[in-house]
Amino acid sequence: MAEFTMELSDEQKEVRDWLHGFAADVIRPAAAEWDEREETPWPVIQEAAKVGIYSLDFYAQQYFDATGLGIPMAMEELFWGDAGIALSIVGTGLAAVGVLANGTEEQIGTWIPQMYGDANDVKVAAFCSSEPDAGSDVASMRTRAVYDEAKDEWVLNGTKTWATNGGIANVHVVVAVVDPELGSKGHASFIVPPNTPGLSQGQKFKKHGIRASHTAEVVLDGVRVPGSCLLGGKEKLDARLARAREKAKKGGERVKNAAMATFEASRPAVGAMAVGTARAAYEVALEYAQTREQFGRPIIDNQGVAFQLADMRTSIDAARLLVWRASWMAINGKPFTAAEGSMSKLFASETAKKVTAQAVQILGGNGYTREYPVERMHRDSAIYTIFEGTSEIQRLVIARTLAGMPIR
Ligand SMILES: Cc1cc2nc3c(=O)[nH]c(=O)nc-3n(C[C@H](O)[C@H](O)[C@H](O)COP(=O)(O)OP(=O)(O)OC[C@H]3O[C@@H](n4cnc5c(N)ncnc54)[C@H](O)[C@@H]3O)c2cc1C
Repeated sequence: MAEFTMELSDEQKEVRDWLHGFAADVIRPAAAEWDEREETPWPVIQEAAKVGIYSLDFYAQQYFDATGLGIPMAMEELFWGDAGIALSIVGTGLAAVGVLANGTEEQIGTWIPQMYGDANDVKVAAFCSSEPDAGSDVASMRTRAVYDEAKDEWVLNGTKTWATNGGIANVHVVVAVVDPELGSKGHASFIVPPNTPGLSQGQKFKKHGIRASHTAEVVLDGVRVPGSCLLGGKEKLDARLARAREKAKKGGERVKNAAMATFEASRPAVGAMAVGTARAAYEVALEYAQTREQFGRPIIDNQGVAFQLADMRTSIDAARLLVWRASWMAINGKPFTAAEGSMSKLFASETAKKVTAQAVQILGGNGYTREYPVERMHRDSAIYTIFEGTSEIQRLVIARTLAGMPIR
């Protein structure tokens, strides 16, 4: 009988403390500067590469932690440091996961090292799925990939948007339509190698928060990539398309789908990022409430303030437990019968927004200024309820799962 424990192993504590040290000593002190500059914090990414935090090996080690807690612990600590910088450090991982999930061993070996570069010459990668008219509704994607058999090349045309690291990445992973009749079953992912003609950056967005993370449009104008850049290879794609066509024919209807289940596996990790930001703001608020005096006593002596802190801490701990449960379920192959991954992302992201707003309130006028970090944390927190599936989409997934209704 497996023993139930909430105790982290010594090894996990060691990794957590090491990451916390990096977040406290390197990320947090740089946070305000890169938020103002609204630029990718290359020197911080380089520092992370030097100590081994910016590498596939690091994430693979965390991923294979048998308890499932390696990734959520890492995300919580890095995002505790600063959300914008941490996203610049982990953003490449989203593209790397796209290759790991669908690529052949050769593709993994060729492209993932080029996504990260090395400590002397760091690179980033981008995962480009969203489009101006295809956000939550991934199935309405328009970017086309057409096979040029004579040259064994794929030709990509379309406009991607909201791509983290889009346009500045060494390697772009692009999702495109290969068979428009099949909805998202007719999509495939492609590697666009460094310096491929036809790929350019469109507008770079000026954002509300996570401003150190680069977010931009990516324009694909007659981009030609070799056949070997189709993730998984042509044979596998043809077999998959044939199966989908057969199914669509049998069902007598167009294969329906939406974004809903697409990012299910990564949702607890996003929940953990939100927990990191919420915890950071809570800690600042707690300390402030203990030291700021009004009416001759620390403001925490007022129940109105103390109860807010009690609620903040309770929600953060509850969010973490949901994230850990979903991560444990994922590593142990437990079926998400109540969309527990989506639940964790929904609750943690809403918690981060609420807790950071409470922190601003507890700091009063100071909370509203850039002299104190909670103002930035509050702006940063708003992303968690939007990317990797909005809160509404999480609720939709949870509700449909509970009702036994199809999600796709
Ligand atoms: C900073 C940032 C970084 C990002 N990084 C990436 C990236 O690296 N790669 C990438 O591919 N994408 C990325 N995204 C895109 C992100 O995943 C999308 O913004 C998100 O999926 C929502 O899509 P949308 O913005 O088009 O909103 P829409 O889908 O247009 O939604 C607008 C509103 O309508 C609601 N809504 C939509 N459909 C329903 C429904 N069926 N029921 C109820 N409510 C609904 C939504 O919840 C939302 O409130 C990023 C976005 C941002 C802002």
